[in-house]
Amino acid sequence: MELNRLTAHQLLELIKVNSIESQEIISFLEKRIKEIDNKLNAYVRKDRTVDVKSEENTEGFLKGIPISIKDNICTKWLPTECCSKILEGFLPPYDATVIEKLKSYGAKIFPLKTNMDEFAFGSSTENSYFGPTHNPWNLECVAGGSSGGSAAAVASDEAIFALGTDTGGSIRQPASFCGVVGLKPTYGRVSRYGLIAFASSLDVIGPITKDVYDSALLLNIIAGYDPRDSTSVNIEVPDYLKALNLDIKGIKIGIPKEYFVEGLDKQVKESLDEAISVFKKLGAECREVYLPHTEYAVAVYYIIATAEASSNLARFDGIQYGYRIKQKNLISLYKKTRGQGFGQEAKRRIILGTFTLAHGYYEAYYLRALKVRTLIKNDFDEVFKEVDCLVTPTSPTPAFKIGEKIRDPLKMYLSDIFTISANLAGIPAISIPCGFTKNNLPIGLQILSSPFNEEMVLRVAYNFEQNTVWHKIKPKL
Ligand code: GLN
Repeated sequence: MELNRLTAHQLLELIKVNSIESQEIISFLEKRIKEIDNKLNAYVRKDRTVDVKSEENTEGFLKGIPISIKDNICTKWLPTECCSKILEGFLPPYDATVIEKLKSYGAKIFPLKTNMDEFAFGSSTENSYFGPTHNPWNLECVAGGSSGGSAAAVASDEAIFALGTDTGGSIRQPASFCGVVGLKPTYGRVSRYGLIAFASSLDVIGPITKDVYDSALLLNIIAGYDPRDSTSVNIEVPDYLKALNLDIKGIKIGIPKEYFVEGLDKQVKESLDEAISVFKKLGAECREVYLPHTEYAVAVYYIIATAEASSNLARFDGIQYGYRIKQKNLISLYKKTRGQGFGQEAKRRIILGTFTLAHGYYEAYYLRALKVRTLIKNDFDEVFKEVDCLVTPTSPTPAFKIGEKIRDPLKMYLSDIFTISANLAGIPAISIPCGFTKNNLPIGLQILSSPFNEEMVLRVAYNFEQNTVWHKIKPKL
């Protein structure tokens, strides 16, 4: 049996009856990566030899099952470079809280990190210093972004499961493009300690998995309060696997009208309509709802996210981390290092963010964006008084061609139109496979619910998955 093809829960079942060593699973993954990753580029720095002292406890619950980690989550003594030249060679001296937790549960941190857009800026993984990740379903297409490496690795069985991060859709959109499950938890549900910040009020770490069961299993491990992250929330973490046992009879599903508009791909729309009829068959009540401020989400997001990014990236100055161009005077060291260390998109965001925070523009842009963000959040608060969850497409289109949008940032930004609102409002949302286009590209469906109601999101997703076959279909590589 090819162990790399299994999910974490399938491996756990197998380990119960057979003694499988962590190393066996890793060997299967390594073989797979050797075979196909030159085509996909889901992992970075594959030629690197890693020599990390293993601190893992393979006796824990996960029994040494390997997990793949996005390149912006700190892993002790394992390069963490955000796929940026400016962090070249950065070795964190500590683990992110999620990594500590995974290790304490007996996970093995896979020594290669997954590819991503530089500092998670992007929707296609084309902004990576290490080149784009290709979509396992069609190598000419993008894998989505910014967690494109994690999504492609999971979809192509180069990983058992993975962690991604989501600031405006970076877990859900690549999951939808690659035909896997991506969960963005509520802001504050999972510690951000050790996540290299993009936009601190929006960033969340979450699971990218082959099915919904693994998503719940992984969330059980990484969720919870962390005194080292002042924005993590100190409330009880339920057992997310328990939520999967419940059916969805009588559950009220809202279908937001604003998400079914011009620009929505016809085949995506058809898959969504079919999915809605599945929910109805399972006894859910579906009704149209309204989120009137949706049209402002992209604009608001790109003001807030770039403002926060410009401030977060100020620390990369060639002094403390990674890349440095030595100069006689300090200012020119900063200039040279930052000028050469950051890629185009990072520079664009630093400039945009600095502009909207500048004296004289702050009120007109940043402050106004914050106010509209509140209106967007209020829309969700209102709607969740009426319905238990919302169902929407994850992305208006399936995966697009590599190179298609990279020269037109506005077009690229618009591909996040359905995922961004969840980050602005801080609510949980999942993307699960719900069909394929005629050209055999996966289509994703998004389920959103009220803050800290991941149970509802997972429960509705699981019921759908158990009654459809989409998650079982694998790319031919
Ligand atoms: N595509 C969005 C952006 O470029 C979201 C990225 C993310 O979630 N990290 O900002």
